Amino acid sequence: MAQRIVDVLVPVALDHTYSYRAPPELDLSVGDLVAVPLGKAETVGVVWSDNVPVRPGLHNRLKDVDATLDYPPLREELRSFVDWVANYTLSPRGMVLRMALRMGELGPERERVAVRLSGPPPQRMTPARRRVMTALSDGLLRTKAEAAKDAGVSTGVIDGLVDEGTLEVVALPPEPVARQPDPDYRAPELTGPQRMATDILRGAVKQGGYTVDLLDGVTGSGKTEVYFEAIAETIRKRRQSLVLMPEIALTAQFLDRFAQRFGVRPAEWHSELGSRRRARTWNAVAAGEVNVVVGARSALFLPYADLGLIVVDEEHDAVYKQEDGVHYHARDMAVVRARIADIPIVLSSATPSVETMVNARRGRYRRLALTQRFGGQSEPAIEAIDLKREGPPRGRFIAPRLAGIVKTALERGDQALLFLNRRGYAPLTLCRACGFRLNCPNCDAWLVDHRFKRQLVCHHCGFTTPPPAACPKCHATESFVACGPGVERLEEEAHTLFPDRRILVLSSDLIASIERMREEFRDIEEGRVDIVIGTQLVAKGHHFPKLNLVGVIDADLGLGSGDPRAAERTFQLLHQVIGRAGREEGRGMGYLQTHQPEHPVMQALIAQDREAFYNSEIAARERLHYPPFGRLASLLVTGADKHAAEGFARKLAMIAPHTDDVRVLGPAEAPLAVVRGRHRFRLMVKSARNFDLSAWLRGWLAQAPKRKGDIKLDVDVDPQSFL
Ligand SMILES: [Zn+2]
Ligand SMILES: [Zn+2]
Repeated sequence: MAQRIVDVLVPVALDHTYSYRAPPELDLSVGDLVAVPLGKAETVGVVWSDNVPVRPGLHNRLKDVDATLDYPPLREELRSFVDWVANYTLSPRGMVLRMALRMGELGPERERVAVRLSGPPPQRMTPARRRVMTALSDGLLRTKAEAAKDAGVSTGVIDGLVDEGTLEVVALPPEPVARQPDPDYRAPELTGPQRMATDILRGAVKQGGYTVDLLDGVTGSGKTEVYFEAIAETIRKRRQSLVLMPEIALTAQFLDRFAQRFGVRPAEWHSELGSRRRARTWNAVAAGEVNVVVGARSALFLPYADLGLIVVDEEHDAVYKQEDGVHYHARDMAVVRARIADIPIVLSSATPSVETMVNARRGRYRRLALTQRFGGQSEPAIEAIDLKREGPPRGRFIAPRLAGIVKTALERGDQALLFLNRRGYAPLTLCRACGFRLNCPNCDAWLVDHRFKRQLVCHHCGFTTPPPAACPKCHATESFVACGPGVERLEEEAHTLFPDRRILVLSSDLIASIERMREEFRDIEEGRVDIVIGTQLVAKGHHFPKLNLVGVIDADLGLGSGDPRAAERTFQLLHQVIGRAGREEGRGMGYLQTHQPEHPVMQALIAQDREAFYNSEIAARERLHYPPFGRLASLLVTGADKHAAEGFARKLAMIAPHTDDVRVLGPAEAPLAVVRGRHRFRLMVKSARNFDLSAWLRGWLAQAPKRKGDIKLDVDVDPQSFL
């Protein structure tokens, strides 16, 4: 009888599977996780196909599958998804599989222990020890920290009593990944428009099958409450829901709201989870023990036992695009996964991406509009502050009019947010004596002064160095001047203008831990901060009840980048950040400090005419055949040797197969010409909308000349970044 052969996909940078003999005693099925020999090592893999025909005589050269692993098998739906993503993004299938196998390592988590009174009193009694004995006399279990707190002693005292045998240590079971949410825990009070949208989404879940709904609602209109009802319906059907969020680490408020609605918090999935916690979550999701997962983009690759609904919150957010490894857009791939799984998906945003808006206008997606703020609050009124006419004095960044408005708002008891999407103290430092600029030694980029940390940092490669004592060129001392503002410099100015106010800077590089971050957001919510100075970190989804004023320090910042999405990004970011204002009471106000108050983005924001912005942006994209009216791919060639990198890029362009549907532009030196010591050249590929660009690229790259030395080629289908 012929030996049974299976093909196994392994999570390495390969597109193809390997064939192995399946020993009868293993009883393998497609989707099983297995251990297989690969080279000299053993690796985890997934059985991808079964009963593979193999040329006679080859059997004996194949190796055996070593063992099946004790994990739930990967279901057909997830395997098809892996194949689809790999094919579309031109990534090796093994690398996409790797994202689905990030299951961490099962094992004991950092043990949780408690103490309780059990043995005889200690030989040597002290007042501190007596307080512990009294506090713990109820016989209840407490963690060491709780016991120390209740007795008003240090944990050292507790440890001493454990050593003496007075206290007993008891191991606690690990916290469950998530408990069962109750769809009827607290029924929400919905407005008329919310109820209409809710009914439609509930209907989509009840009916099942693939549908795409765009939940398009102004900031503060209660989109979350609406999609919560779709989740409730999915829980009632005993199926799983996935909520994708752009910044999972920053969503304590969201988790609390979820708990208020469903009685418990959902399971979380993001890069900050420890390996053991990750393993338990992965297994619980695969076993169907978890009903709702809230996660970052990687949660899209979890092995759901029975996924019934996907929600993509802030669907327009650029963070959904993964820029390293497999270049995929989590929102687009979420739509694909929903289609493969044949389930509803909800895209939610106050400023939908142009792509999504076009799909909605053409009827491919259903659009559910919420045009009123919850509780009847108005959307913030927006005014421009023209920096050409009423700008701040030299070296300052807050215009006198904005400073006056902030002062009045604070006197009223409101909070103010000063928004500047730039980390650090200053984006450029130069020598006053000779004009020398502090540059990154590895990149074509300035070093950014981070004064809180007393370091100069390259935002592209992470290079850091302490500020030099003297100018490296002219050796002048104390000759360096900061040019331009970062949030740290803005804080300095705010302190001068508002000396007695409580000021908090929020910037991703200043976050010590997620816990600390969540505390800081709570401080703002509960009014323990007067002025918030923040980067885009504050723009997303937060609800600050006392915030009524937002001042944008440099509204033009994102516009000059040469990125085809610059206008869209700027519009979305500014709309979002100003939308933080006036959500609870009073009228929110937004001020845009700008050099170009006549720019269409500023005009649309000021006129509160979102449709005008989409109309003009969609028309421009259509004229230029930019997405979604055409397709783009970017090929980035990099290498330590400039000529070699450029030469390879040129050869590649020369052999591009000719067709009327595709144009290859470049190669051209990338705007960031050098990063990490590597020269960068880009080819842009433009095609018609309905053209199979991935297949064409694959055919082209199969003919590519051999890459010599350290030359790298990075393919990005539907690129979001053009730096
Ligand atoms: Zn100098
Ligand atoms: Zn650098």
